[in-house]
Amino acid sequence: MAFWPSVVVATPAHSGVGASLTYRSELPLAPGTLVRVPLGAREVLGVVWDCLATPPEGLTEAQTKAVTGMLQGLPPLNERWRQLVKFAAQYYQRSLGEVALAALPPQLRDLSNVQLARRLKRRSKTGVDEHIPAGNVADGHDLSDEQRQALDALALAAAPVLLFGATGSGKTEVYLQATQRALAEHADAQVLVMVPEINLTPQLEARFRERFEPLCGAGAVVCLHSGMTPAQRLSSWLAAHTGQARIVLGTRMAVLASLPGLRLIVVDEEHDPSYKSQEGARYSARDLAVYRGKVETEALAAGERCQVVLGSATPSLESWHAADQGRYLRLAMPARIGGGALPRLRLVDMNHQPKGAVLAPPLIAAMAERIGRGEQCLVLLNRRGYAPVLACHDCGWKSQCAHCSAFRVFHKLDRTLRCHHCGFTERVPRACPDCGNLDIAPVGRGTEQVEEQLAGLLADVKRPDGGPARVARMDADSTRLKGSLEVQLATMHSGEVDVLVGTQMIAKGHDFRRITLVASINADSGLFASDYRAPERLFALLMQAAGRAGRDAAQSAASEMWVQTWYPQHPLFASLKQHDFPAFATTQLAERLSAGMPPYGHQALLRADARTQQAAQAYLNAAAQAAVGLPHFEDVTLYPAVPLTIQRVANVERAQLLVEAASRGALQRFLAAWQPVLLESRSLPEARGLIRFAVDVDPLVI
Ligand code: ADP
Ligand code: ZN
Ligand code: ZN
Repeated sequence: MAFWPSVVVATPAHSGVGASLTYRSELPLAPGTLVRVPLGAREVLGVVWDCLATPPEGLTEAQTKAVTGMLQGLPPLNERWRQLVKFAAQYYQRSLGEVALAALPPQLRDLSNVQLARRLKRRSKTGVDEHIPAGNVADGHDLSDEQRQALDALALAAAPVLLFGATGSGKTEVYLQATQRALAEHADAQVLVMVPEINLTPQLEARFRERFEPLCGAGAVVCLHSGMTPAQRLSSWLAAHTGQARIVLGTRMAVLASLPGLRLIVVDEEHDPSYKSQEGARYSARDLAVYRGKVETEALAAGERCQVVLGSATPSLESWHAADQGRYLRLAMPARIGGGALPRLRLVDMNHQPKGAVLAPPLIAAMAERIGRGEQCLVLLNRRGYAPVLACHDCGWKSQCAHCSAFRVFHKLDRTLRCHHCGFTERVPRACPDCGNLDIAPVGRGTEQVEEQLAGLLADVKRPDGGPARVARMDADSTRLKGSLEVQLATMHSGEVDVLVGTQMIAKGHDFRRITLVASINADSGLFASDYRAPERLFALLMQAAGRAGRDAAQSAASEMWVQTWYPQHPLFASLKQHDFPAFATTQLAERLSAGMPPYGHQALLRADARTQQAAQAYLNAAAQAAVGLPHFEDVTLYPAVPLTIQRVANVERAQLLVEAASRGALQRFLAAWQPVLLESRSLPEARGLIRFAVDVDPLVI
C-alpha cells in the first residue's frame, strides 16, 4: 500500500514550481506533518499539505520520489495554521512553500530525529500552576476606571478591538490582564503579544515574565524575533508549537508561529510600519493577526473566541477607519495614569531664530532650566551620523556613493563616509578627491553633530548635584554592539544622562520617568513629502515622542514638547497641540477619500530590480501591456513605471509600477491572474537585465 502526499517546500514565488509536489510514502501522513523530502540533489524540509490514497492522475509510482522521513515527536501543524499560511501566500502573491517554510525556524531543517527528541525532552513541563487567578490589580495598584472599563468591554467584544489609549494610559496593564484572563479560562490557552521591536522595550518582556512565570511556570513566556540565535528561535518555536509556552512575545514574524491553543492576540503600537515586511512575502503582521483571530474563532465552540487587540495612541488610519465602520470595536483610554496632563506643545518658528541656528536659543534655555532641576530631556532628529553629505565648495564634489544614487553620510567619530543603503564605507579623504581642495565641509546635520553641539551649548549648565550636564546619543550606531542598548537605556533610567539625542528609536515605548521636555528639531521634511502617508507617520512620531514626557504625574503639568519648524501654521500642528488624534484622523481620512487612497482605495506595487533602469522599467511596462484583457483588468488602473526615489542601490537599478483598484477583491483577482504573466514577461527581449521582480500588496511606501 502506498500513499501520495502533496508536500510544500521552500520555493520562491517565481521559481515556476507549483504550489506543492507529490511524493510517495508507505504510511498515510496527516496534513501538517513535517517531513524531509528529496528535491533535485538536495534533501529539504517540507510540510504535508494533503495525502491521497491513489496517485494523482497522470503520475505513476515510478515518477514520484519517496518521502525520506518525518520529523518524529512533533504534532502536525494544525489546520488553522495551514489556512493562515495559505491566505498569506495568496493575498501577498507568494508561493505556499515560501510562506510556510519561512514561518518555521531554520534550524528545524538540520535536526536529526535523535537531536529533535533530545530538544523536545529538554523542554519538558516545568511546574505549571493550574489555577491562574483572573487578576485585577496593577502592580499592587488598583486599575484605573478606564482600564477596568476597557477590560470589561474586552470580555464581551466579538469584533477585533482597537484600544485607543493615550501614551501613559496603562495599555500594557490591559494587555497583561487580558492575557491573565485568557490563560485562566483554558488550561491550554496561549497568547501572542506582538511588539514592533522587542529590543527597544526590554521592560515589556520583564513585566510579562514577572507576572506570568510565578503563575504558569518558568518556561511559560518565550520570545520570538529575528535577533535571536537559531537555537533560541528553535527552542521558542518548539515551546509554542507543543503548547508548553503559554505566552509568545514577538515581532512581526511571530504572527506565523504555530500556536495550537491561541486565544488572544495583542498587537501593541499597531500603527508601527515595522509590522509590514519589506522583503520576501511582504505581509502585514497586523492584518494577518486580524485574519488569524477570525480563523481561530471559527474553529472554536460557539461563544468562544480568539480575541484580537490592536493598541495604539495613534492608530493606523486603516484601523481607525475600520473602527469608524464598526468592523472593529474602539475602546478609548484618553487619560494618563495618575491623571497627569499630556505635554504642552511649543512650536518654535525657525523664521524668527538667528540665522543658521540648529537649536533655537529659547529651546536651549528651556533645556538648561530643566537640567538644573534634575529633569531629563529628549532631542529627536531623524538622521544618524554627523552630516548627511560632505562637500567641496570649490568644485562641487559631494560624497556620492559609488554604488547607489545617494550620498554617503559623514561619521565624525570614526572619520568615515558610510553609505546607509549599501554599507560602502571609506575613510574620510584628507582633501577633495576631485580638485585637491583641503576645505571639504559637512552639509546638514545628524545625531552625532547635534550631540556635539548640545554638549558645547550646555557646557556651563549644572545638575542639582553640581556636576556638569551630560549629553548622550542613542541611534543605530550607538547601539550596534550587543548589550549596548540595554546599557544606554539603564543610564537614562538611572538619571546619569540629562539629555538624550537620538533617532526615532528614542521616541518609542520607553517609560523614562524623569523626562519633562522632548524636542523634535527637524520635523518639516514630513510635512511636504510626496508620500501620502508622511503626515500620518509624522503625527504618530511626534505624539509618541511627546508621550515620553511627563510620565511621572507629579511632573506632567510642566512637561513640554518642542517642535522646531519653518511652518508653524501647518494644520497638522493644530491637531497636535490639542493632542487630538481623532481630529487629525478625520481630516486625513477625508483627504484619502477624495483621492481614492487607502483605506478607501486599494493598491499594489510591482517592483523590478535590474542591471539598468531602462530594463527595469521596460519589464514593468511590458508586464502592464500584457495585462490587457485579464480578468478585472477593467477594474484596476496601472500607472507607468517610475524609478524609486533612491533608484540605484548597490549597483542595482530599481523601478516600480503602481496598481490601484476601488475594490480589494477586484485587485486580488487581477493580481492572481497577472502572476503567470509576470513570470512569462521575464523572458521578453525588453526584460534583458532584469534581476528580480516582486509584488507588494498594500504597500506602505509608494
Ligand atoms: P502606555 O503603554 O499606555 O503608554 P504603560 O502601560 O507603559 O502605558 O503605563 C504607564 C505607567 O503606568 C507604567 O509605569 C505602569 O506601570 C503604570 N500603571 C499602569 N496601570 C497602573 C495603575 N492602574 N495604577 C498605577 N500605575 C499604573
Ligand atoms: Zn573639490
Ligand atoms: Zn551605497
